[in-house]
Amino acid sequence: MQLTLVFISHDLSVVKHISDRIAVMYLGRIVEVGPATEVFGKPRHPYTQALVSAIPLPDPEKERQRKRIILQGDPPSPLNPPAGCPFHPRCLHAVEACRKQVPAFELRGNQQVACIRVDEIV
Ligand code: SF4
Repeated sequence: MQLTLVFISHDLSVVKHISDRIAVMYLGRIVEVGPATEVFGKPRHPYTQALVSAIPLPDPEKERQRKRIILQGDPPSPLNPPAGCPFHPRCLHAVEACRKQVPAFELRGNQQVACIRVDEIV
């Protein structure tokens, strides 16, 4: 039908089932983009990894074994984002360079990821 719909939600389990492509945003910036199956199957950005790890599983046994990534701290104000990578104050993988450098998009497979350590953390 030559039709595009943009669906914005915090409910990732819904997003997963209705989307062809997903863009994950943090502080108003896109941090990862790619096909839904790949973003959910192999999230590459640390924020996407934390979001995907938070999705409850319907199987009680798998739910008990699910390992969540718990982010530290609260999101900063989007009106005054941190220097460098906006995610660095909460990122478990942040290094000194993350405080100075705004990450450009890196293409990995079909996913674009805004992280300078994308190859080290997957
Ligand atoms: S650039 Fe650094 S702080 Fe930002 S997501 Fe990657 S590792 Fe974390």
